[in-house]
Amino acid sequence: MKNPLILCIDLDEWYHGRWATGSAKSRWKNTKDCFKDYYHSTKPNGEIIEPTNQILKILKKEKIKATFFILGEVAEWYPELVKKIAREGHEIACHGMHHYDLTLYSKDDFVKDLVKSRKILRKLSGQKVLGFRAPNLVIPSWLGEVLNEQKFAYDSSVCPSRNVQGKNRDQTAVSCNPYRVSEKSMLLKGKSSLIEIPIPTFPILKLPGAVSIATRIFGLWWTKITLDHTLKTGAACFYLHPYEFNQAPKIDKMKFKERLIFRRAGQPMTKIFEKLLKQYRGRIISAEKFVTEYFTE
Ligand SMILES: [Zn+2]
Repeated sequence: MKNPLILCIDLDEWYHGRWATGSAKSRWKNTKDCFKDYYHSTKPNGEIIEPTNQILKILKKEKIKATFFILGEVAEWYPELVKKIAREGHEIACHGMHHYDLTLYSKDDFVKDLVKSRKILRKLSGQKVLGFRAPNLVIPSWLGEVLNEQKFAYDSSVCPSRNVQGKNRDQTAVSCNPYRVSEKSMLLKGKSSLIEIPIPTFPILKLPGAVSIATRIFGLWWTKITLDHTLKTGAACFYLHPYEFNQAPKIDKMKFKERLIFRRAGQPMTKIFEKLLKQYRGRIISAEKFVTEYFTE
């Protein structure tokens, strides 16, 4: 078989975006403040359900099993949705408890949240929950050590990108294909038990290419060049979010950069997703399947 494409869906909402909450420069301090201000409530209003169902329907039609990275807080708000995703045969993986840059956590506080979120996901899905993705792909130096200690089989947080908005530092030297990480750093190849599934970048330019935000901003050609280039030498990973199938939130005075994040959101995103699945038909698998059946290093 040709090198596989690993498909992931991060069950984030628009308010988990770094511009809205979860980083030092966010519009709101946390989701609690955001919900109070935007929904006049202590909880979100279920906008994630409809587009997640839409994604599940498309995946069922295409007979594809994917990986869903889910936050502990999202699982607490929408337990039935997590159960449904697991029931339909998709992999449940961990995206942390809250969508905050991990550099805002101490190592010990993060471990507590990681254990808590994994427990919630295990209980709802009946799965082992083998994979982790850091919110906003922000990686503190201790993350690899923690994931090894907690016996995660793989991580998918490294983006071999230039420094974009202080997020990825400079990770341009890292492979875009999956690799076994070193005990010292997740950015280096080595012999620890943890496998890294990176998010590929556009060749030479080294800008994010295999995430649907980039696909919507630049166009499908951008992602296709990124994936085809990466797939020449090994497996590649692509991910998207349910909120992209909805319209942008109605917020006053959104900055240009914030509006750009929602370019072609809604109906155009459905078309982009369906086209992408068609382009790579027959070679799309979940991260768990890749790690357990394909990875040989
Ligand atoms: Zn996320």
